[in-house]
Amino acid sequence: MAVAEKTVAPEPIESAADHVHRNVSSLGESATLAIHERSATLVREGRHVYRIGFGQSPFPVPERVVEALRRHAPRKEYLPVRGLEELRAAVAEHHRQLDGIDASADGVMIGPGSKELIFLLQLIFRGQVLIPSPSWVSYAPQARILGRRPVHVPTTFEDGWKVDPERLTSACAGGAGPWLLILNYPNNPVGNTYSPAELADLAEAARRHRILILADEIYGRLHFAGGHASMARFYPEGTIVSSGLSKWCGAGGWRLGTFVFPRQLAALHEVMGAVASETFTAASAPIQLAAVEAFRGGDDLDRYLAGCRRILGALGRRSAQVLRAAGVRVHEPEGGFYIFPDFSPFAERLAARGITGSPTLCERLLADTGVATLPGLPFGRPTDELTARLCYVDFDGARALEEIARVPGNGDPGNDFLERCCGDVLRAMERVVDWLG
Ligand code: PMP
Ligand code: GLU
Repeated sequence: MAVAEKTVAPEPIESAADHVHRNVSSLGESATLAIHERSATLVREGRHVYRIGFGQSPFPVPERVVEALRRHAPRKEYLPVRGLEELRAAVAEHHRQLDGIDASADGVMIGPGSKELIFLLQLIFRGQVLIPSPSWVSYAPQARILGRRPVHVPTTFEDGWKVDPERLTSACAGGAGPWLLILNYPNNPVGNTYSPAELADLAEAARRHRILILADEIYGRLHFAGGHASMARFYPEGTIVSSGLSKWCGAGGWRLGTFVFPRQLAALHEVMGAVASETFTAASAPIQLAAVEAFRGGDDLDRYLAGCRRILGALGRRSAQVLRAAGVRVHEPEGGFYIFPDFSPFAERLAARGITGSPTLCERLLADTGVATLPGLPFGRPTDELTARLCYVDFDGARALEEIARVPGNGDPGNDFLERCCGDVLRAMERVVDWLG
């Protein structure tokens, strides 16, 4: 007698959504992109939003680079996985000239944004990742996507939020390595940078503990005094330098990132290339061709960069001064476009309003004043710390560049200039101060 077949109801297709890998099941959208979209939604709803939550360059892509992109739009072929030869040569030359490092075209890898390259490096690296706290929002989630628990290197406001050799050494003490430190300067979110002497000390510690360093120098060209020192000068054999077009060339949406590997790490570069060939294939052809123009530089690009630095330097310092004058703890920035105030002097007053941590701080600030910022939490700070990241980029960069060219000298362009060209950023800082009460 035939045995009746047990019928199992097939799972509805929607249940596929339950089968998400546990490494990513609680992953939300990256904090930076989420605040960008939220701000855009609020603007569409008719609110005035001070958009200092998302770190995007306010400046246009230099005209000669845009023109190159127009010219190369018909280029439709797939390019070599590690990048167009001409571009790799231009990137190496750029770093040799401006950073004084021993970069060669063979060591350059091009990708669709440095974010993707950083992720691939974390993926191929068998070891533990050291991430300073605070740090840019995506390093730690990338590690978690890969099922890794990053090791945090603590820093403090008092020490200028800097990693030092002692802290680095004690962070390594609890693990077996091998280690990869992601060191970013000029820094997102705190706006600080490292002196050659500090880098030399860190290099010595890294050498001693065999720590590989990914030096995220994407804001290097936006060091306000033009004095960026690359980690690769001090630790050439163990440093991979990360950069791209997003910050100094105003082209975040073009998605082009660069890595420079030293000869000693050619094997890692090789594996990155293999993984890239099975994932993103190559960065876009017209963008790579336009990037050749950007990395080759020239007087027009030097003028553009000098203008960007002068504006950002003055605005960053003024923003920090407005907050400091009101009693907020914040360092004046040295490069990039971020400051990272600590509102703890207002802890009691804020607690009386039900605000005891950075997520509520930023939520309420946005709701009450229209100032969009990001809480310290996604940068790796404790939830109950009253820190936030402010990006002083909410202004018309094209107009500011035009006007700065008419302000004589190359020092601080003064209050009139900042009021005229970057007024909304100053208004945002004042609103924060008024809201603190
Ligand atoms: N590193 C830092 C510190 C950043 O702020 C960003 C944000 N753009 C990136 C890397 C990634 O940049 P991209 O992918 O646009 O090259
Ligand atoms: N890096 C920018 C920021 O920190 C945004 C771009 C991104 O996160 O990919 O706001």
